[in-house]
Amino acid sequence: MRCLEFQQQINDFLDDRLTIGQAGDFMEHADSCHECMEELELRYMIRVGILEQNRDDREMSYDYSQQLNRILERTRKDLRVRYLCRIVKYSVSTMAFWAALALILVQMRVWLIG
Ligand SMILES: [Zn+2]
Repeated sequence: MRCLEFQQQINDFLDDRLTIGQAGDFMEHADSCHECMEELELRYMIRVGILEQNRDDREMSYDYSQQLNRILERTRKDLRVRYLCRIVKYSVSTMAFWAALALILVQMRVWLIG
């Protein structure tokens, strides 16, 4: 993912509107690109800052980066869970395929040999 693409997706990320694939690319870029991470923090603070204005500035900026970290951590966890689910689903369908094949072979043997 390029920086421009990342920055275009920041709002969608904060609104939780990215697909799981997009969120994966987004997180990967956030972890590897310091500038985009700063941009994300800034955009998050601006956005939340608009909603909550009656608090001490220093305390607020500390809270915001904590909150953002929690969102990022939750997204990472979500991605891991979905990734695991995909592996399990794939394993189960693979096993089901081989089980069905084995069953057919056994049945054919019964038909052929009697
Ligand atoms: Zn970047």
